[in-house]
Amino acid sequence: MTTNRSCPICGKGLLQRHKEVAFFTYKNESKSVNDHFSVCDSCGVEQADTGEMKLNKRSVIKAKKEVEGLLTGEEVLQMRKTLGVNQEDASKIFGGGPVAFSKYEKDDVMQSVAMDNIFRLAMDVPGAFEYLCKRSGVSVRKINVIWTARVSESGYVSFGSNDNSSNESAWEITHYENNLVLESH
Ligand SMILES: [Zn+2]
Repeated sequence: MTTNRSCPICGKGLLQRHKEVAFFTYKNESKSVNDHFSVCDSCGVEQADTGEMKLNKRSVIKAKKEVEGLLTGEEVLQMRKTLGVNQEDASKIFGGGPVAFSKYEKDDVMQSVAMDNIFRLAMDVPGAFEYLCKRSGVSVRKINVIWTARVSESGYVSFGSNDNSSNESAWEITHYENNLVLESH
């Protein structure tokens, strides 16, 4: 973001960006949100451009999601990564249109309670995500790895911690048609 913006009010000064923590009350709950704005170094007028207003709106939507008990954008992103799908496939699997996940993850929009419930179902109920994939015709290679997958220089892939190889027995490998699912027990 450029900082070399002249003030549209006085035409003399330059606008300097600021970020403050503000409090936003929603349904009797007070949440801290980010307030982005610019101040003219000549006339001192505070103003927010479209980019700053967008950031403020996202911060408010994130706070509303928290009050409503919905997954935040960050949590939706984490869920999608855990399920191992890109944004495009995720919108085919869950619905909501081609740019739905970009909007959920940036906190541009709030997902419905119904959509939020489906996300949680896909995450928490074994087989639910595979069912949704099958219904939407999206073939997803899902690998649920709680521990890190390590790829050595020779290309050997190991799962789990280095210091305890016996943990390999704690993994169960299942094939769902073309999909490989690795689950801990
Ligand atoms: Zn000014």
